[in-house]
This record gives sequence, structure tokens and C-alpha cells, in this order.
Amino acid sequence: MRFKDKIVLISGGTRGIGKACAMSFAEEGAICALNYRSNKTEAEKTIHELPGKNHRLYQADLSNPIAIEEMVNSVLNDFGTIDVLVNNAGIHEHHPIDKVDYKTWQDEWNKTIQVNLMGAANLTFCCAQVMIKQNQGKIIFVSSRGAFRGEPDQPAYGASKGGLNSFGQSMAQKLAPYNISVGLVAPGFVQTEMTAAILEGERGASIKAQSPYNRVAKAEEVAHAVLFLADEKSFWSTGTIIDVNGASYLRT
Ligand code: NAD
Repeated sequence: MRFKDKIVLISGGTRGIGKACAMSFAEEGAICALNYRSNKTEAEKTIHELPGKNHRLYQADLSNPIAIEEMVNSVLNDFGTIDVLVNNAGIHEHHPIDKVDYKTWQDEWNKTIQVNLMGAANLTFCCAQVMIKQNQGKIIFVSSRGAFRGEPDQPAYGASKGGLNSFGQSMAQKLAPYNISVGLVAPGFVQTEMTAAILEGERGASIKAQSPYNRVAKAEEVAHAVLFLADEKSFWSTGTIIDVNGASYLRT
């Protein structure tokens, strides 16, 4: 029980990679505070599937800074602390520069940066205030292989994840004196709701073939890396970005 009674806040924690993280933390004794955007039915189903007790749901749209602050205050009201923050929520929008008009281009950039980068930055700010006072904490970001390999048709997504890597590493340095470690995971394709349509479509076989294992990741395999970074014994790995991509892209 590596995380017994630790309070773990996971953004977008009720499906996909976020849900897999919640399951893994709960199996290790953690109490999960799961953020969701709008799908209450899905959120309630997830919370009932988690082992252990006292897990709670928190609705908040991460593109709204006030909603983020209110959510963190609610978690603190309920649990009195936040030990681990997993910045997982994200969107992946298609907006190729040679196909979309200027208005769409701007809308997609604004939307993506607001959730993937600003949402994570604002949630980190609010949770870090608590962790700084407590002189302890773990912050993990779910980034992406796309930050390194490029995202030709989702450039705002790639840029948002590159920004997240830079932000996370800045925070690893800034927050170390407060005993707070910060790490990132950079998955390649993962089998989740986000990618289901692409994987089932005509590109599915070639996407799987990007890895010599000829498959994409399971969400649990990403969760494994998230829990590694959140583990007390991984403290010295602060600032690390862990590739979780089945050798589909090897950066040097
Ligand atoms: P998903 O779409 O299944 O889950 C994303 C979650 O984020 C959902 O719960 C969604 O509701 C939430 N979310 C989105 N916008 C939000 C908002 N404004 N406010 C609150 N919550 C919001 O996708 P996933 O595959 O589980 O992705 C999780 C993370 O992993 C994302 O950051 C994604 O970029 C990253 N990632 C995924 C893949 C992949 O292939 N699936 C690869 C690399 C990185």
C-alpha cells in the first residue's frame, strides 16, 4: 500500500488514462479526488468502480480559472490536504494549417492552450500553494510523445505538450526547496476514448506498427509510470520526462 490514505487529485480522472491512474492509486490505498468536466453519469460509474472508500468527484471545467480555484478549495474542505496532483486532462483537436480557415485556426489554438497548458498551470498554482505550506507534495503531468515528434495536424496540441514539459521542469527546480517533486510522462498512442476513432479507422494498423510491439499502449501502462513518479522513493527523479511509447519514437 504505497499510497495509503494519500489524497490524490486527478484532472480528467474519470475515463481513459486518468481513470487508469485512479484505479492504480486506489489499489495502492490512496483516496482519489477525481475531477471531471461534464459527464456526471460516467464519473459516478468510475468512482463506484474504485477499490477502497472515501473517493470523491469534483466537477470543474479546467478552461475556467475560477472553477479550478473553487474545486481545489472543495477538495481541501473535504480532505484538508492534497498529497499528489496528476495533471492529466487534455484535448486533442484536428486543425491542419492547410485545411482550416483563420478563425478555426485561432479557436483551436485558444481552446487547446486554455485546457492543456493554462488549465494545468492554474491547477498546479492552486495545489502548489497547499503543498508549499505543507513542505511536501508530488506533481505529475501527462504530456505526450507529440511534444518531441511533432503533431502535423494537431499543432496546438504538440505545442501545448511542449509547453507542459517546459513548465513541469521549471516547477521541478522551483519547488524542490519545498520538498515537492515534479515529473512528466510522455505517452505515444494509448488505447482510450480520445484515440478510439483513429485506431479503429484506416490509420489504425499503421499506428500500431509504429511500435516494434505492433500495438499501442494500455492506459494502465501509462498509470504505472505516473505512480512511479509519485512514489516517495522516486524523489530524486524530479524533473524527469518518462517516455511511455513502446519504442515508437526514440529521442536522444
Ligand atoms: P480522454 O479523452 O479519454 O480523457 C481526457 C480527459 O480530460 C477526459 O476525462 C475529459 O473530460 C478531460 N477534459 C478535457 N477537457 C477538459 C476540461 N476543459 N476540463 C476538465 N476536464 C477536461 O483522453 P486520454 O487519452 O485518457 O488522455 C489523457 C491525457 O493523456 C491527455 O492529457 C492526453 O493529451 C494525454 N495523452 C493521450 C494519448 C493517447 O493516445 N490517448 C497519448 C499521449 C498523451
